[in-house]
Formats: sequence, structure tokens, C-alpha cells
Amino acid sequence: MENSKVNTAFVLDNVGCENRCVFCGNHTRKNIDENIEREFEKITRICRKNDVAQVEVSGNDPVEYEELPKIVEKITDICGCDGVAISTHGMDLEDESFLNELVESGADYFRIPLYGHNVEVHDSVTLNEGSFVRLMKAFKNLRELKNGSEVPGLLVTSLILKDNQDHLEQLFHFMSKLDFVDEFRIGLAGYDPENKDFVPHIPDFGKLEKDLPELLSYAESIGLDEKLSLADIPMCLRNYKWGKIGDFIPPEGGYEHFGIIGKDAPIYMQKIKTSDCRSCKHNKNCPGFLRTYVENGYFTPKPVKDEE
Ligand code: SF4
Repeated sequence: MENSKVNTAFVLDNVGCENRCVFCGNHTRKNIDENIEREFEKITRICRKNDVAQVEVSGNDPVEYEELPKIVEKITDICGCDGVAISTHGMDLEDESFLNELVESGADYFRIPLYGHNVEVHDSVTLNEGSFVRLMKAFKNLRELKNGSEVPGLLVTSLILKDNQDHLEQLFHFMSKLDFVDEFRIGLAGYDPENKDFVPHIPDFGKLEKDLPELLSYAESIGLDEKLSLADIPMCLRNYKWGKIGDFIPPEGGYEHFGIIGKDAPIYMQKIKTSDCRSCKHNKNCPGFLRTYVENGYFTPKPVKDEE
């Protein structure tokens, strides 16, 4: 073994996805057998060299693949990992028997996005009518399955977009009622400048900067600070002290399908700092801001100098 424990990813990027999320687009199923073979070759290689803590099954979207429980079972056999996490839109977990089968096969953690507190907001991001209703059925099944136990763990994530930024207070309130969820995380969508369709959905960062202190103060007042982490939202954007930070860490080998080797992330997930960051009081501990937003003029980090 070369390293201490690492996390890696099994990426089912050829499965296809019913959602048409504004930051992601249209994915139809293609060459699934080739995809599975490639990923098993990858994780076998990574697991030979490393002690693996967790394998995350992601892609677009893993739960739309009927044979997913068999894949999860084979991953645990190959890697002997501590756990298998599934990153998914969650909609197919509305089928209780499929959910049970997945958990029995070794899936012990789910990461599921929620973009709004109601049909209108959530479905305006997924561009898939009915996605909120199906997700709520899946949440009901997860609540019953967990029934107070720790397994399967559940992380509910969200992204701030133009489409939901005026409804964040309602989203926080909604989250605070989901008592069976173990953790929440909210962050920003990666922006790929090649994806011109995403431009109208980029948040209004000027407004967000003004709104976030009050929104986070509200989230704290309803106890959400116990479970909610902020990802990729530096102090110069949030202007509010927040205990839980959940910045993205690329999984070992997770992006080999893009031709990216090792722990690097695609450009839309990378961060940069500007020369101004040198005079910011958070410079030492801050990883910077998402690079493509800065380089394309959507947000300019402003050094924090005064007392918070
Ligand atoms: S170091 Fe740069 S990106 Fe980080 S909070 Fe300060 S100004 Fe913002």
C-alpha cells in the first residue's frame, strides 16, 4: 500500500439521466458495458495500490442502472472498502425494494441534491417535471429505512443558482424539517465556459454577497448550523462565520474518464486566488474561489480586512 486511506470514485457516466439539470445538460445512455469495464479496471488498479476508505459511485445517474446493486456488491468484493456511497438524483429510490436491494448489496451512504423547497423551484433546476415529487417519495422511503439508525447515511446537497437564489431562506427552512438527514451541504455549480446554456443560470453574485450574511444568520437561528456545511463559498462572498466548511476534494482517480490523472479536478472545479488575496486576512486558510467564475468576470474576490 502506497498511501494512507483514500477515497475513489466509480463513475457511471454512460448510464444516462432523466434530469436535464441547468448546469449539466442532456445525457442519454450509451456503451454501458464499456463504461463498467473501464471503471472496474480503474478501481482494481487503485485498490491494489491504496487502502480505500470509500468508493463513491457517481455518474449520470447511477440509480437509473438496473444492475447497480450487483456493481456495488462487486466493488466491495474488489476493494474491501469501508463503505460504498451513491451520488444520485435519488428519484429511483422511490422504489422501496430497489432501495433495500442497494443497501443490502453494500451501499451505506447516499448523496442526493435538493434544489428547492417546492415543485416549482426544484423542477426549474432539474428541468424534469415530477422530479421533486419523486424525490419526496424517495425521502419518505429513506426516512422509514433509516428509522433512527446511522445506516444508510444521508447527505442532502444543494447548489446556489440564479433559479433558486431568491428562495434560499425557504430551502433552509425546508432542510431544517428533514430530521432524518445526517448532513447538508450547499455550494456552487462548477461553470464550464464551453457550456453557454448555463450562463443564464449563474447566480447574481453581487446580490448573493449582500444576502448571505442574513440568510446564514437565519439558518443558524433554526439550528441548521449543526448539520449544514458550506462548500466553495469563501469568506469574501459569505461575510459570515460558519463552522462547517465542506470544500470539494477530488477523489483519487475520479476523473480519469476525462483524461485527468491523479487528484486533479476538471477546470470548472478548480480554484484560484488573485493578487489581491495576499492582503486578505483569510489568505492563509482560504483555497480561493472557483476559477472559471473569476476568470470570466462573474465574481472578483475582495480582500477581507476589517474585523468580522
Ligand atoms: S483569500 Fe481571496 S478568495 Fe479567500 S476570502 Fe480572501 S479575498 Fe476571498
